[in-house]
Amino acid sequence: MKPAPFVHHVPKTLEEALKILAEVAPQDGRVLAGGQSLVPIMAFRLAKPAHLVDINEVAGLDKMTNDGRMLTIGARVRHAAFHKSVVDNPLGQLLSVVARHIAHYPIRTRGTFCGSLAHADPASEWCLVAATLDAMLVAKSTRGERAIAAKNFFAGIMSTALAEDELLTEARLPLLSKDTKFGFNEFSRRAGDFAMAASLATYRLQAGKIAEVRVGIGGAEPFPRRVVEAEAALTGKIPGDTVFRTAAEAAAKAIDPLEDHQTNADYRRDLVRAVVRRALEQSAS
Ligand SMILES: Cc1cc2nc3c(=O)[nH]c(=O)nc-3n(C[C@H](O)[C@H](O)[C@H](O)COP(=O)(O)OP(=O)(O)OC[C@H]3O[C@@H](n4cnc5c(N)ncnc54)[C@H](O)[C@@H]3O)c2cc1C
Repeated sequence: MKPAPFVHHVPKTLEEALKILAEVAPQDGRVLAGGQSLVPIMAFRLAKPAHLVDINEVAGLDKMTNDGRMLTIGARVRHAAFHKSVVDNPLGQLLSVVARHIAHYPIRTRGTFCGSLAHADPASEWCLVAATLDAMLVAKSTRGERAIAAKNFFAGIMSTALAEDELLTEARLPLLSKDTKFGFNEFSRRAGDFAMAASLATYRLQAGKIAEVRVGIGGAEPFPRRVVEAEAALTGKIPGDTVFRTAAEAAAKAIDPLEDHQTNADYRRDLVRAVVRRALEQSAS
């Protein structure tokens, strides 16, 4: 199938993009970033936007900056940019480990970090990273700018706090302490498929005990989030198999699992138990 007819707008500046988006959003206008989610959906006519505001030539949105506290990722930064560590900080290594789990290489050369957040697939690896690390997401429109905490950004399956005339211009991720340990694990049926469950864990060791711990899960509920029950099970403990299994069990119990034609709630809990334990094992290896 081919997409339904649409008008293709190619603004060169952010101001122009926001102006066009404000005009066309009420007529089902949409932002086009990497097109790796939107174009297939349009090809199947599951979406028929009348206007596309293509941001691929908007100046300045392809930048990544590091101010010593935050890594700021512009709306045109592709997944593939993270194949190599983009910042001399554990965050750079974390992002490069996670990036390789997203789809396949050609998709990673086009799809964008911010496009993934705006699309908000429950299984998106970048959404999991943003939720686990408490990213700040910057939305702009002709009405102004606002920063949205990741925990308030994801609203449901493929649903976010973005208004129809807002462009997600950048995502800000906190740099991690140099001694941060992290682990990431996901389960999918084939390499490159969307995850059926994924987990990201980060923490530091203080006098050999776990501190400042974050445990996120994705692909298991309508949107990724931190699991405080698992974090509580780890805080103040010496890392090890028993502690990791207890935290994984706490995460499996805490979730309200998504069910679909191939996955029931029990199976999804099993997957969460496994990915949390494996992420924690990886963090300690
Ligand atoms: C075969 C296949 C496998 C895939 N596997 C994975 C996977 O394992 N993990 C994963 O995370 N993703 C996967 N994807 C999706 C891919 O990562 C997409 O690149 C990503 O979800 C969307 O980014 P994009 O830049 O391509 O956005 P687009 O497709 O251009 O847009 C997606 C949606 O977000 C909106 N949007 C995009 N950017 C902005 C913005 N800056 N502000 C406001 N709205 C915006 C669009 O209007 C649209 O509604 C896969 C895709 C394919 C085709």
